[in-house]
Amino acid sequence: MIAHVLDIFFPPLCELCREVLREGHSLCGDCAANLKRIESPFCQKCGEPFDGQIESHFSCPNCSTIELAFDFARSPLQAAGPARELIHALKYRSRFYLADEFAPFFMELLEQDERLSDLPQNTLVVPVPLHWWRQQIRQGNQANEIAKSFCQSSGLPFLPALQRIRRTETQTRLTRKQRLSNLHNAFRIREKMREKLTGATVILIDDVFTTGSTAHECARLLKKKASVERVIVLTLLRG
Ligand SMILES: [Zn+2]
Ligand SMILES: [Zn+2]
Repeated sequence: MIAHVLDIFFPPLCELCREVLREGHSLCGDCAANLKRIESPFCQKCGEPFDGQIESHFSCPNCSTIELAFDFARSPLQAAGPARELIHALKYRSRFYLADEFAPFFMELLEQDERLSDLPQNTLVVPVPLHWWRQQIRQGNQANEIAKSFCQSSGLPFLPALQRIRRTETQTRLTRKQRLSNLHNAFRIREKMREKLTGATVILIDDVFTTGSTAHECARLLKKKASVERVIVLTLLRG
């Protein structure tokens, strides 16, 4: 009732164009449709999109030279313009309600990518964790919120099985190789969840995929220390 009265005086606005929303919570249909999707051709390993027409499945030059521990990574949206603004608002301005707007983009992927169409029974959704200190500063973890919304839409179980035990230098200025060593031993498996992970397929969720070093390190740990069978990485944006 109160929410309804508030809607009359302060109707919800689209986060991007400030139009009054008739349906939805924070993004209008046009703005959602205009976010740039990643479409094929893209690298079968890391999901990086390429221009032009490539009919066959391929791996990009980057993925052909290094061994990544995850099975493959996909992102529905390009890290450009408005999509980037939205993630920024979610991440640094604690607008966690935005996470609900993102779940439909993951659902699009589940429908489109045949590798995601029939996931095994023991599939679990694991968010990339933040160090508790950073989580405190941001008043939450964006990957957690995105993962929870995705679980609500897909019906897959949420399992926050990873913990970040080391605060790491900001990754932005490091090379790919430096990023990998920077992250070594930055995570650990939550002991009480280890058993559930054995033999499972994990969908690892994060907000943005840039070099893939975070996803690689999490996947390496999940496979090596918790006998996870497969790790599929889903991030909202692809840098
Ligand atoms: Zn709009
Ligand atoms: Zn690649």
